[in-house]
Amino acid sequence: MNKKDYYEILGINKNASEAEIKSAFRKLAKENHPDVSKNPNAEAKFKELQEAYAVLSDKEKRQQYDQHGHSAFEGGFGGTSGFDFSGFDFSDIFSDIFGSSFGFGSQGGHANRPKKGRDVIIEMGLSFKDAVFGIEKTINIDVDETCKDCHGHGGTGEKTCSKCHGSGTITMEQRTMLGAYLTKTTCTSCQGSGSIYDKTCSKCHGKGTKRKNKEIVIKVPAGVDNGNQLRIPGKGEAGVNGGPKGDLYVEFYIDKDPLFVRKGDNVKLNIPITITEAILGCKKEIPTLYGEVILTIPPGTQSGSEFLLKGKGIANVNSNKKGDMFAIIDVIIPDKLDKKQKELIHNLAKTPLEQHEIFKKFDKNIKRR
Ligand SMILES: [Zn+2]
Ligand SMILES: [Zn+2]
Repeated sequence: MNKKDYYEILGINKNASEAEIKSAFRKLAKENHPDVSKNPNAEAKFKELQEAYAVLSDKEKRQQYDQHGHSAFEGGFGGTSGFDFSGFDFSDIFSDIFGSSFGFGSQGGHANRPKKGRDVIIEMGLSFKDAVFGIEKTINIDVDETCKDCHGHGGTGEKTCSKCHGSGTITMEQRTMLGAYLTKTTCTSCQGSGSIYDKTCSKCHGKGTKRKNKEIVIKVPAGVDNGNQLRIPGKGEAGVNGGPKGDLYVEFYIDKDPLFVRKGDNVKLNIPITITEAILGCKKEIPTLYGEVILTIPPGTQSGSEFLLKGKGIANVNSNKKGDMFAIIDVIIPDKLDKKQKELIHNLAKTPLEQHEIFKKFDKNIKRR
């Protein structure tokens, strides 16, 4: 075995502190990263650095190495395997080197972390009545499901991607007039997962997910209003790298009712009445959301008068407390009268109808001008 000394590789002495090891690796890894370095042997050099760091940054392994040298990690398989550092997690120190110090933001080096699947938003049209009372609706949506054949990996025989060394991103040096800086892009070899597979899954063609049409039962709660969103957890797109599923959001659009006008949890209803009903008063059967009721309209009721029907509005979608209903009187002036009705109205017109308060007040204000 003709292997270079780990301390030599990192350019440090045998009693270097943990911080010195880390800082030496940081400096050399930055210079020798194969995506940055112009040195044709950069990849081999980078591997060497990784190996040295993986050993010396681990107290136990460092001790073994100090005692036995390279033979500490040479197994019983002919002594050629050397130290296997493929399981070592470099993501923290790499994000340190290629992340924060170059301002790449938080995604640097963490491309293969579990990520929650995307949320899905769908729109649902409802009749006024279904929105008021709630309903159960079955819908069909297309969502990405984790592939069962490869458990979302996209293939079998996982290996660390050699192009990005498992980081999922490629760092490139850009030279400009202002100097050189590093840019980071998703690795095209592994699509950012950091791993490649011997055999691509034939069911999902390596994607790890499959588009599936799913039937979902939506329980629309009573009282939903236009634009309200209902969240159904875990019914969105499949997660990435074993992350949880996204959520499904259902946004409601509600048809107008020919009679009732909704204002929050309250409803308004216009009640047309005749002039004689307005003058003489009457009892009227009117509809509410909860069946018919009798409304007593007193003599002399004006057009636009409001009658409050407490608790006859819509149940609040959160508190379930019911709103109110307002019956608004609309006095309809007849535009077609028969001969006899005309005669009656003419006779009525001869009486002093202008004795009403409102006429007196109006006259007074005119004189004041
Ligand atoms: Zn698959
Ligand atoms: Zn890659």
